[in-house]
Amino acid sequence: MTYFPAFFDLDGQRVLVVGGGEVALRKVSLLERTGARITVVAPRLHAELGDRAARGALAAELREFLPADLEGARLVIVATSRRAVNRWIAKLSDARGIPVNVVDDRGASRFIVPAIVDRDPVLVAISSAGASPVLARRLRERLEALVPPRIGELATWLSGLRDIVRQRLGDTAQRRRFFETLVDGPAARRFIDGDRAGAARIARQELARGPTAAGSMGQVTLVGAGPGDPELLTLKALRALQDADVILYDRLVSGAVLDYARRDALRVCVGKIAGGQSTSQERINELLVEHARQGSRVVRLKGGDPLVFGRGGEELEALARAGIAFSVVPGITAAAGAAAYAGIPLTHRDLAHGVSFVTGHADRQGREPDWRALAAAGTTTVFYMGLMRLDHIVARLLEHGAPPTRPAAVIAHATTPQQRVVASTLGELRQRAAQSTLESPALLIVGEVVSRHDALQWFHPAMANDLSCSA
Ligand code: SAH
Repeated sequence: MTYFPAFFDLDGQRVLVVGGGEVALRKVSLLERTGARITVVAPRLHAELGDRAARGALAAELREFLPADLEGARLVIVATSRRAVNRWIAKLSDARGIPVNVVDDRGASRFIVPAIVDRDPVLVAISSAGASPVLARRLRERLEALVPPRIGELATWLSGLRDIVRQRLGDTAQRRRFFETLVDGPAARRFIDGDRAGAARIARQELARGPTAAGSMGQVTLVGAGPGDPELLTLKALRALQDADVILYDRLVSGAVLDYARRDALRVCVGKIAGGQSTSQERINELLVEHARQGSRVVRLKGGDPLVFGRGGEELEALARAGIAFSVVPGITAAAGAAAYAGIPLTHRDLAHGVSFVTGHADRQGREPDWRALAAAGTTTVFYMGLMRLDHIVARLLEHGAPPTRPAAVIAHATTPQQRVVASTLGELRQRAAQSTLESPALLIVGEVVSRHDALQWFHPAMANDLSCSA
């Protein structure tokens, strides 16, 4: 990150503006609203600036800049038309430790001024760190359209409720929930539609319900994080992540997905590495129950879909036994994500009339899947957790009658910039996969549909990588 985002409290502080033209006027207009004590130094002033000086709204020095002007300044904005002069003033300011901005000269500036969406007191600031001012401006225009005009008044109204809410609701979690109910629910909608009385009535009702209604018992949401690409999260998953107090996540869940979680949520990795140390399932179940009993909103975040090979069912059973409220947000399972991003239709009118999801591990009793059925023609089989047992799986399929020419592919890190696809046939896959040093997570797709990969592949991860770097 090139710049640290911050908002400056300039009330009563001395701010120096060097330059008296149109640009200086724009900056002054913004500065005035912060309550800053503004001094403008310039041999000539824009008429509007002259008026404001005459009214006493700012101090004006009608002359060239002198180093002594920096005395006592908390912030400096330089906007003369002479680049060399601007840079000299910037250097002097910087040497004195006073943050300085030179308009349109990022290199000479210590801070830059963002594009803003102004809904005082709500302020959205946008910066591309100078990489693309056009992009920042477009984004601002979109946000302008998106952020309701009354959002600022809404913030002021909510701020006015703080004292009474503090008296009525004892702890911070309850207060946060109360405000979330207002912001997410009909109260905020009414306010924004102009019905202040209606909004106030709802707020009074919510408050009268007291702390118990705000949910003294927590709840657990089992959330599918999808296969890796964070944009494959559902809107419900996003909402759950942003509402969570506690997030228990698997190692499979990508950091890019976790970035969408509420900043101050407690995040606990209960990851499982194949064959490695991990939190036991019993312990995970206990943790879910414990956190919910403490009144937290718990998200149990699992790779792919939570109820496909994720032991999500056992977690729900534990919650049901403990009498804890729960809900489930489905996710895009790895088979669906991998197939889509590899250009492999899982079913196809001419090639496959069904699809099976099978775990590559033997079950607890060591039972094997029905290999004969999986080896039959005309269906697609997706093996999860199959990489370590690839040899075994391929050998069993061949033994049970699958032809060595049947197309098969291993897809690793599907839907991410690290995605790798090795498409081959059952006869040659083991050798091809061994040469490609594939890493987990990976899954294996077997069936005629894999032959479509060559013609239908559209996702080129190396390119996705490049794009994400230069954006
Ligand atoms: N609940 C998950 C599956 C958990 S089992 C889901 O619905 O997807 C873990 C297995 O899923 C891994 O061993 C691997 O076979 C598969 N998997 C998960 N993410 C994957 C990815 N991005 N690419 C390939 N396989 C993946």
